[in-house]
Amino acid sequence: MKTLGHWIGGKPADGASGEFGPVYDPATGEQTTRVALASVGEVDRAVAAAKEAYREWGTASLSRRTSVLYAYRQLLDARRDEIAALITAEHGKVHSDALGEVARGMEIVELACGITEKLKGELSTEVSTRVDVASIRQPLGVVAGITPFNFPAMVPMWMFPLALACGNTFVLKPSEKDPSAAYRLAELAAEAGVPEGVLNVVNGDRTAVERLLEHPDVAAVSFVGSTPIARHIQETAVRHGKRVQALGGAKNHMLVLPDADLDHAADNAINAAYGSAGERCMAVSVVVAIDSVADDLVARIAARAERLRIGPGTDPSSEMGPLITGEHRDKVASYVRGAAAQGAEVVVDGTGLSVAGHENGFFLGVSLLDRVRTDSDAYREEIFGPVLCVVRAETYDEAIALINSSPWGNGTAIFTRDGGAARRFQLEVEAGMVGVNVPIPVPIGHHSFGGWKDSLFGDLHIYGNDGIAFYTRGKVITTRWPDPADSGGINLGFPRH
Ligand code: NAD
Repeated sequence: MKTLGHWIGGKPADGASGEFGPVYDPATGEQTTRVALASVGEVDRAVAAAKEAYREWGTASLSRRTSVLYAYRQLLDARRDEIAALITAEHGKVHSDALGEVARGMEIVELACGITEKLKGELSTEVSTRVDVASIRQPLGVVAGITPFNFPAMVPMWMFPLALACGNTFVLKPSEKDPSAAYRLAELAAEAGVPEGVLNVVNGDRTAVERLLEHPDVAAVSFVGSTPIARHIQETAVRHGKRVQALGGAKNHMLVLPDADLDHAADNAINAAYGSAGERCMAVSVVVAIDSVADDLVARIAARAERLRIGPGTDPSSEMGPLITGEHRDKVASYVRGAAAQGAEVVVDGTGLSVAGHENGFFLGVSLLDRVRTDSDAYREEIFGPVLCVVRAETYDEAIALINSSPWGNGTAIFTRDGGAARRFQLEVEAGMVGVNVPIPVPIGHHSFGGWKDSLFGDLHIYGNDGIAFYTRGKVITTRWPDPADSGGINLGFPRH
């Protein structure tokens, strides 16, 4: 069995706490790795390494920083398959999906390569006689990232490339369930020329997280994970005087209007609900169907769901892989088993699935629940598995009221051919990311990603311009170079331009 430690100061560091967590191959159910769980002292070592590295990296020229990032981008491009294989081995998602995750993470490295343009600052000349004003943005220092299991490479890449481009140094605490991809990203960063201590990885659990939240040398914390933990992260980090962005869970609704192309909508519902076994924060977990087309739509989704090929992520014919752990699989199955008693119609029940040759893997078939009541557990909770709920509404107004009453507001989508309805929806819906005939509207790297309400705690969204604002602080410089002939003189009044 492999043992994975930490990456501190540009080199591997064995775990010294004596505590380890299990990492499984979800397709076989076997433990493949034991991951070190950092002690407070080990987190302190990583922060100290980052603090030391900041002395040079924080003032390194833009061309030095970007040349390293360009080299990193090239290396990632060459190693896409290797990183995707690590993701599949520990998360379980199919290889093509894992490759997509790597590509979406690389978008942020590409944005980071162009940081020179984004950090140009502003200059106003002659705001008063011989007075100029410049606005610049400077790095914060040591920043930390805490990431979830479901995108073990992409979500870390939402954070550290931009943080580094802005001149910060970084301590990453990846999910302890699938830590190898993030660790490999740090090794490759070193190979690309990221100096020692600029990017550190501490593996661990709650102990490591709590230490990062209270450490006096950590200036800011980016978090992505479930809503209860996101709320806790924000409250604790703020209490310790840190800047924080904490992205939480979701329940994403896809509204299908009667004029939509129902085959197109059904295809997209399938892809967005069951891709990555539903373990995406932007997964569509609720379809809101207008009554007049609901029966037809449900029949089309069910027909497609029954044909999905479920198997190990390493098999190119698999369309969906296993869930992350046996415990999580059982919890997801319990929502399907309890659904009928809470009023839902179980149209497709995936709980009985067994994959030949992989009987101990954490597999679960896909499920489709119709006429789901909004007071039922399946509707109210984030299931985070391959379960799609259908809720019916009589009108657009009823549908939008339903969507807006959700405590979450991450992503949402409308399927229609009516431009006016789509426009109304995009303005009225209370969510941070909206798709029009696009079921998973994850913004491209140059725009920012973030939800509303219980899907994000903090002000700034992640990556894009918000990400750059998050990882920098503003400074405004007012300058006067007096003419040698100008005597100036004494004036105690408040300066006016
Ligand atoms: P999680 O909240 O359990 O864990 C996220 C991170 O927090 C991990 O690194 C974990 O070690 C740490 N953590 C867990 N419990 C903690 C505690 N009590 N105290 C301190 N730290 C703790 O999330 P997960 O199960 O890894 O990921 C799935 C969740 O993440 C889902 O809710 C999903 O919607 C959400 N998610 C959100 C986004 C987004 O952009 N909004 C993206 C991906 C995932």
